[in-house]
Amino acid sequence: MKPADIEALVRPNIRALCPYSTARDEYSGPLGIFLDANESPYPTGWNRYPDPHQKALKAQVAALKGLPAECIFLGNGSDEAIDLLFRVFCTPGQDNAVAISPSYGMYAVAADINDVQMRSVPLGPDFSLPAEALLDACDGRTRLLFLCSPNNPTGNAFDPEEIAALIRRFPGIVVLDEAYADFSARGSMRARLAEFPNLVILQTFSKAWGLAALRLGMAFADPYIIALLSRVKYPYNINQAAQELVSQALAEPVDGHVATIVAERGRLSAALPAFGCVRRVYPSDANFLLVQVDDADRLYAHLLADGIIVRNRTRVPLCADCLRITVGLPSENDQVLKSFEAYEKGDIHR
Ligand SMILES: *Cc1c(COP(=O)(O)O)cnc(C)c1O
Repeated sequence: MKPADIEALVRPNIRALCPYSTARDEYSGPLGIFLDANESPYPTGWNRYPDPHQKALKAQVAALKGLPAECIFLGNGSDEAIDLLFRVFCTPGQDNAVAISPSYGMYAVAADINDVQMRSVPLGPDFSLPAEALLDACDGRTRLLFLCSPNNPTGNAFDPEEIAALIRRFPGIVVLDEAYADFSARGSMRARLAEFPNLVILQTFSKAWGLAALRLGMAFADPYIIALLSRVKYPYNINQAAQELVSQALAEPVDGHVATIVAERGRLSAALPAFGCVRRVYPSDANFLLVQVDDADRLYAHLLADGIIVRNRTRVPLCADCLRITVGLPSENDQVLKSFEAYEKGDIHR
């Protein structure tokens, strides 16, 4: 897809938008007297508005991800980027989007909020990528295609070559959600960003980095798309505390945590099939397991009574009688296995 084709996908009012600008943009010296934003002059520690461009944090993320800062958008969680993509590319009541199903629930919610029709395409056998069906679901008003790899809640990652082929054939923006890429041997496709002007990759600090409470998500794309997202976002979308605390956290690598979670995922997926109630543990490239059991509602209630909260996905397409279990600390995973044992023995309440 050529840059001119991308421009044609943008909502006309967004293409024409004159974004809000802050006076702070016009001054870059160190020791000004700031009387431009009606802030309090008294130093509470938080009395100044944060950097709307998040320059310092973006430079750190750029180094971490091996991408130029112009290819990076920072959002209030990936959820902000998902919403902005609808607002930038989809005219409400007219355009539509396509997504794999089952997948992350926010794609459909953001579509509904923006009055954009979402066309859900079921995954193929063994949760494979339904490439032809996804393309068949498109028409002249399809603007976005949502893929998630590793996928939530199924846990599997798709073959990067299959994803690449789909990006080349899809006549709109492909949003590839890589929230769980840190847990997968397949890694990320971000090194190939330059090949695909119509690709937006989403990542987050909420999972592998353990910073869900700070709400920081990333979108990686061609600078043209990043500039569009930046124009439409709230000027101060990332608060000062999040910018500072994420910046500090990036100094502490989390490889050890990720390695332990991956090892524990292996231990759980080896142990669970021994229980009679477990029909199937799906292979996982993420930090959770999708487990099909004999009676998901009953086991869910049992685990809950034991103080173990998992996600009951039994009413999700293709996930009948499935629980999604996040990999916890080794001691927490021991508790899960104990609770399965108790369920097996029939002592539901202890
Ligand atoms: C958890 C998750 C996210 C994270 O969203 P944030 O808003 O960054 O916390 C994004 N996508 C998927 C598929 C997820 O499961």
